[in-house]
Amino acid sequence: MLGVTQSLEEITVPDLASMPKAELHLHLEGAPRWSTLRHALHRHRGITLPESPPWYEPKFRFASFDQFRALFHRYIHPWLQTPVGYNELICDVVDSLLEQHIRYAEIDFYAASVERVGASLDQVLAILEAEVERANAQGSVLKIFLGINRHDGVENAAFWVQRLISAPVICGVDLHGSEVGWPADLFKAALAPVREMGKKIKSHAGEMVGPEAIRAAVEGLGVRQIGHAVSAIQDPAVVELLRDRKVVVEMCPTSNERLQYISSYQDHPIFDLDAAGVAVTVNSDDPTCFGSNLTNELSRLIIERGATLADLKRWTQNAFRYALIEEETLTPILSDLNTWFENVNSGSESTNSSPQY
Ligand SMILES: [Zn+2]
Repeated sequence: MLGVTQSLEEITVPDLASMPKAELHLHLEGAPRWSTLRHALHRHRGITLPESPPWYEPKFRFASFDQFRALFHRYIHPWLQTPVGYNELICDVVDSLLEQHIRYAEIDFYAASVERVGASLDQVLAILEAEVERANAQGSVLKIFLGINRHDGVENAAFWVQRLISAPVICGVDLHGSEVGWPADLFKAALAPVREMGKKIKSHAGEMVGPEAIRAAVEGLGVRQIGHAVSAIQDPAVVELLRDRKVVVEMCPTSNERLQYISSYQDHPIFDLDAAGVAVTVNSDDPTCFGSNLTNELSRLIIERGATLADLKRWTQNAFRYALIEEETLTPILSDLNTWFENVNSGSESTNSSPQY
């Protein structure tokens, strides 16, 4: 950990943009770059937006989850309602992943919004398939997950599973949305067909509510991959559960800070969970809303929390270990990761004194 008196200028951050990375927690609709969104809304709708929105200010905090969600209604949906909106958004998200050298990503796709904004689900699935192929040709593996809002109820979850789980581009289900009153184990029967098809189930848990939600997801729903899980740190027995069952945790520090699910960035439990033997990973959640991306998240952890290169390597390896990726594809990626760290450690990789976004 850094001493509190150490100034930012003293910290050398390597050029993290070139580091091979993995991101397990990214929402498609919350991932386009602001500059692309801004130009698209101007082009299609004549709307003029600032170069940087007020919620990118470092001290900005969302007052509620609803205030955060309102950004989608106000800025993303008007874009998606245009005939080419989904295509532009998906292509931009994939471009952003490729630019950051993200070699594996799991992307939560909120299918329920497609027809709601007047688009064709078949067309959007075709765009996703084409973009997965484009990324694959450039050495990045992308996996699309059907995102389901838990607060829309169990019947709604069963409906979307029945409708989409056999689509080849869908690799599993990610249970998201408001956790309050909706523990993950309520969805066990609705999600059973996902497991029967051999696809992955994962769940947000312990982001907005206490550690009991994490236990419900692990023991009740049987998941081995949890989004956020920041409240695990409140219960040593839940930390042990995560460690003993080898559950990978998708941590999203900037998201947790901006939504005020942690008291401060300095108090984010990623280091404590890591030290307790939990397989933690670093993720950006909704970059459009939090003014972040995976490269920036890693930089912040170095600059503001004193993460070491060994930490970054271990957390990235954790993500690849849980990836839906064949060994013959994974081996060269891990080799590239090792080479990158060897070069940084030997000083041949370029470094910057400030993070590159
Ligand atoms: Zn999320």
